[in-house]
Amino acid sequence: MATRTFFSTKQQEIIVAAIREAERNTSGEIRVHLDEKCPNDPKSRAIEVFNEQKMYQTELRNGVLFYVATTDRKFAIIGDKGIDALVPANFWEEVRDAVLVHFRANQFAEGLVAGIHMAGQKLKTYFPVQHDDTDELTNDISFQNKAEE
Ligand code: CA
Ligand code: CA
Repeated sequence: MATRTFFSTKQQEIIVAAIREAERNTSGEIRVHLDEKCPNDPKSRAIEVFNEQKMYQTELRNGVLFYVATTDRKFAIIGDKGIDALVPANFWEEVRDAVLVHFRANQFAEGLVAGIHMAGQKLKTYFPVQHDDTDELTNDISFQNKAEE
């Protein structure tokens, strides 16, 4: 299934709204990327996407990427080095587990929304939102490069 139609327009709106809501609590910048296939390790691919999308362009290096390969059913969450330097080791595992509960029931939009919400709540301890917060990284979902489709 093509990544752009994996979620309905309504589901995409709900996911973007969840990101916007999470970013009200934290200066962390959350994004979602969908690939169709991921032949290799999803975490490695997530790091590649993170760099392609220039997600390191945040002042506090606190970008977060939720990565999903829709056909291959692979998932990863990664955070930039500002986050890794501060959060407990199991930080992302807890979020990942909450997401996977929904994914296993084929509730992909719900899973991402739950994960985004949880990430926002957890991140605000380490990266509370600032009064002059800006949207450093767009909240829009990104899709795999055209060349790969
Ligand atoms: Ca922000
Ligand atoms: Ca954002």
